[in-house]
Amino acid sequence: MATKVKKKSNFIRAIILNDIKNNKNNGRLQFRFPPEPNGFLHIGHAKAICLNFGLAEEFSVTCNLRMDDTNPVKEDAKYINAIKEDIKWLGFNWGDKLFYTSNYFQTLYEFAIKLIKKDKAFVCELTANEMREYRGTLTEKGKNSPYRNRPIEESLKIFQEMREGKHEVGKYTLRAKVDMASSNLNMRDPIIYRITNTKHHRTGDEWPIYPMYDFAHPLSDAIEGITHSLCTLEFQDHRPIYDWFVKEVETEYIPRQIEFARLDLNYTVMSKRKLKQLVEQNIVEGWDDPRLPTISGLRRRGYTAEAIKTFAEMIGVAKNNSTVDIALLEYFLREDLNKKSKRVMAVIDPIKLIIDNYPENKIEEFEIDNNPEDKSMGTRKVTFSKELYIDREDFKEEATKDFYRLAIGQEVRFMKAYYITATSVKKDDEGNILEIHANYDPETRGGWFKGIRKVKGTIHWVNALDAIDLEVNLYDNLFNVENPGKETGDFLDDINYNSLTKVVAKCESSLKNAKKEEKFQFLRVGYFNVDHKDFIEGNPVFNRAVSLKSSYRPK
Ligand code: ATP
Ligand code: MG
Repeated sequence: MATKVKKKSNFIRAIILNDIKNNKNNGRLQFRFPPEPNGFLHIGHAKAICLNFGLAEEFSVTCNLRMDDTNPVKEDAKYINAIKEDIKWLGFNWGDKLFYTSNYFQTLYEFAIKLIKKDKAFVCELTANEMREYRGTLTEKGKNSPYRNRPIEESLKIFQEMREGKHEVGKYTLRAKVDMASSNLNMRDPIIYRITNTKHHRTGDEWPIYPMYDFAHPLSDAIEGITHSLCTLEFQDHRPIYDWFVKEVETEYIPRQIEFARLDLNYTVMSKRKLKQLVEQNIVEGWDDPRLPTISGLRRRGYTAEAIKTFAEMIGVAKNNSTVDIALLEYFLREDLNKKSKRVMAVIDPIKLIIDNYPENKIEEFEIDNNPEDKSMGTRKVTFSKELYIDREDFKEEATKDFYRLAIGQEVRFMKAYYITATSVKKDDEGNILEIHANYDPETRGGWFKGIRKVKGTIHWVNALDAIDLEVNLYDNLFNVENPGKETGDFLDDINYNSLTKVVAKCESSLKNAKKEEKFQFLRVGYFNVDHKDFIEGNPVFNRAVSLKSSYRPK
């Protein structure tokens, strides 16, 4: 059941509508999402995916999925599969438009030759250090490379040799001939190709040279006929070089780069470099750990694609970066799960309760709505007997003034069952409560007293006779502070090492049949998702997606 996300207007849509009106690109529209397969996608990528694929859907075109695989040192085929899976799970479809920058290596190579022939590129021999020196700074102009005036023929010859693998790593680079005096450092004769002798996950040993991002990206956009190349703000300073390459290569299509604010969330980290560190140092259990903001982690946590899409739409597309409160993401999750999840009873921290005046061997059955607000979700049967489990938190020997739950002498409603009053407790030698004794009122069957005796509290319970033990993961933020690493400079200093608590909960027996990725509201506790990883039929593991309540309301 897909929820229709209401579209908010934004400056990118306005640009597109205007381009359509002016018949720019003959009215043609083409978008792309270009992930680098060097890690799993995160919620920030989800924003970019929703934007690109969302616009494509809106204007009835297909969005290209392009694996931006120009750096074999950091990339791996396993990431390609994960990326595809995540985008599909979000509900987007690239049809037959799956591309790889590595498919364009030959074309890009020919583009580079064209630039050399136009005297717009040259083979340079400066070392990395020398190049840095020559580059200048923000306040100081750069200096021309001594190789800048190398004859065209010579550059062509060496570049060809580079391609043939005749030169060692670092000996030569191919550089664009732009302007070493430009105030924009990206325009100071950027490198176009470097020699790397790493095997590529798709092209193997075929290429000893690899194109740089600033060259490969605009030209891949041009090859694919992208009309609106949407990227995050940090590429604003790269736009002049983007336009320069497109212009100098004289491509048929002229893509336009438009920048938007990247998504940043508090209490987490988003850069792939940092996420990778968390994974490689085993601080989390993998890229899909439910504490990570990766799409696959959020999915295991219990996020729905709809919640993520609504979030992406509601935060909108702006031109200035800002940090979004993670509570806003959680708000949209609660909204969605509230509609979709079955209400069930599970006791996270169980303590036994014995109803002394309830008949031995009697078992009652109550029929309970799966969701009182949505009768179409049906009902299920829950049993009741003399011995129950309740949550330790819901009991105090002596009630304090604002404690409305169970206490000795204090009557509460056991949800959908009876009014019950605690009478005594049994303790061990150290004074820990082992079990609670109580009495019930048979006149209150169904949890209602027909007269006017009211109770202040309602608690949940499970029948000890048929309750089942199930593993539950209680997650908390992975970081203790809003902006990890801000104080100490190292984000690892702010890890919350109590971000995962594993418990065994006493659950109502119906939960035995919970299916992979089925979502539940554990009444009074929170929303839980059946983990699909390592799922065993009849023995589901529940991940807490989000607690039930928050005072948070979106502004
Ligand atoms: P990171 O900086 O998090 O490691 P990246 O930008 O290197 O990510 P890419 O695979 O290059 O990752 O990103 C693919 C696309 O997703 C790019 O167009 C990029 O602009 C966009 N993107 C990446 N991070 C975010 C974000 N936090 N918010 C919005 N869009 C993002
Ligand atoms: Mg990137």
